[in-house]
Amino acid sequence: MISQNRGRTKFYQYHSNTTNLLFVLVRYLRRNFPTPRILCFLLVMTSAPVGMLACQRDSFLRQLKAKVLSCVPAASAAVSSGKSSTAAPAHADPNTPSSSQGTSLYEITFSDSVLFPEGGGQPWDLGTIAGHSVHSVVRKGDTCVVSLPAPLTVGDDVEMTVDWDRRVDHMTHHSAQHVLTAVVESELKLPTECWSLTHPYCFIQVPAASIPAADVTRVEQLCNRLIADGVPVVCETYPSRSDLPAARSRGIPADVTGPLRVISIPNLDSCTCCGTHVSNLAQLHAIKLLHQEAKGNTCRLYFVTGPRLLSAFGATYDREKQLVKALGIHAQGILGVVERKGTQLAESEKWSKKLLAEVAKLTAPQIAANAAACAVSPFFFHREDADMDFLGVVAAELAGKCPAKLCVVAAGSLKEPDSGMLMIVGESPAAVTAFADRFMPLVGGKGGPSKLGFRGKCDMRKWKAALKTIATATDTVGAAAAPLPASSTS
Ligand SMILES: [Zn+2]
Repeated sequence: MISQNRGRTKFYQYHSNTTNLLFVLVRYLRRNFPTPRILCFLLVMTSAPVGMLACQRDSFLRQLKAKVLSCVPAASAAVSSGKSSTAAPAHADPNTPSSSQGTSLYEITFSDSVLFPEGGGQPWDLGTIAGHSVHSVVRKGDTCVVSLPAPLTVGDDVEMTVDWDRRVDHMTHHSAQHVLTAVVESELKLPTECWSLTHPYCFIQVPAASIPAADVTRVEQLCNRLIADGVPVVCETYPSRSDLPAARSRGIPADVTGPLRVISIPNLDSCTCCGTHVSNLAQLHAIKLLHQEAKGNTCRLYFVTGPRLLSAFGATYDREKQLVKALGIHAQGILGVVERKGTQLAESEKWSKKLLAEVAKLTAPQIAANAAACAVSPFFFHREDADMDFLGVVAAELAGKCPAKLCVVAAGSLKEPDSGMLMIVGESPAAVTAFADRFMPLVGGKGGPSKLGFRGKCDMRKWKAALKTIATATDTVGAAAAPLPASSTS
C-alpha cells in the first residue's frame, strides 16, 4: 500500500472551522431573516472552492464530514457545465458508471469534498456519501458538484468516503505522467501534447512518429532513478492567475478563477494542475514504459506505475505459467515454440483449404444429382466443416446441373452461434429472394444477393428447427423438405 506520508498544500490552508462558523450564521439568518439572496450568498461563501478542496489540500485523506449546501435533481440543475457530468472517457476504468442506468440523479454541493472532481486529465473519484454510491463528481466553475442517486437534506452533516484503490491508481498515474512528461521534454525535446489516464495502460502523446528504443530505455531509467531517490512532489496554491509563477501549463479552463495550484518536482518540473498527487515519487514504486502507438505524425507512449504495475506483472506471470503448462515447455522456450506452432498452423490451414477445395470438386456432382432427384423443394444441404469456397463450388454445380431447383447449401457448426454461412440458388432470382426473406429470420441470419443467387451468415444452432418449420409449412412444394444427404454432417 501507498505510504501515509501526506502531501499538504503550502501558501494557505482553508479551515473547515470557518465553514462551520459560517453555516451556524446561515442557520441563524434563515430562522430570523429568511431572505433567499443573503442565504444563497452565504451558502456559496461556505463552500470550499475547487483548488482548495479537502482532496486537493491532502491527497491522502480518505474520509471527511461535510455539510450539504444544495441539492437539485440533475435534469433541472441550475449550474451549467461545459462538460457532461455522466460521460465516461474512452477506455475508462470499467468501474466508472457510464450512465445513470435508469435511476434519477441529484446534483449536490457540499461545504467541502474529499472526492476529487474530474479535471487535468484525471477522472473523478468514486466512493460513498451518507451510504449512497457516488455516480460522478465534476467541476462547475469553481464549485465541486457531486451526482448521487438519492437526494440529501440541505444542512445535514454527512460522511464522505473515497474509493481508495481507485484514488491511489489515479494519483500514482497522474504524478508519473508529470515525471515522464518532464523527462521526455528535457531529454528528447518532445513536449507532451496530451495524456490519458486510461485502462489497461495510460499514455502521453508527443509530436514524433516514434521514439527510438534506446531513448525509451534512457527515459525509463531516469524516471526510475527519480523514484528511487524519493524526490518530493510539492503542491503550491495561488489565489488567482495573476499570482502564478512561470510554470508549464496545458491551459487553465476559462471558468476557473482560482485558487490555482502548481505541482513541482524540484529541479525538474513545475506545472499548473488541479489533480491529486503523491507527496513523494517513492510512492510510485516504479514506472514501466510499454509500447508506442503511431497516431498521424504523433505517437503515444504507454506507461504503467504504482499498484497497477504490480498487478499487471502478476497477471502476466500467471498467464506465462499457464502457457508453460499448456505447451509442456520451459518458460525460456515459449517464444520459439509459439512461433513454430504458428507456422505449422498456417501451413496446416493452407493444406486443409486445398484438400477441402478438392473434396468440393469431387462431391459437388453427387450433391447436384441428389438435388435433381429430390422430389421436394427446396433442397437442403449442410456440411459442418465446409467453408464459403466449398459452398461456392457446390452452388455453381447446382446452378449448372439443376437450375430450376431451389437449393440451400450451408456450412458451419450446429453448436456455435457465429460460424454459420449459407448460399441459396436456383429456380429464379425472385424465388431465391422470396425464400431468403422467409428463411433467413428462421436461422437468425443476414445476407444479400450474390453472383449465383443469395449468400449470408447465420446461426446454425437454429438450422434443424428452421428445416422443420419449412417442412411443415403448407406452401412447401412436395410433402416435406428433403432429407439431408449422406454427405451432410447434421
Ligand atoms: Zn497534472
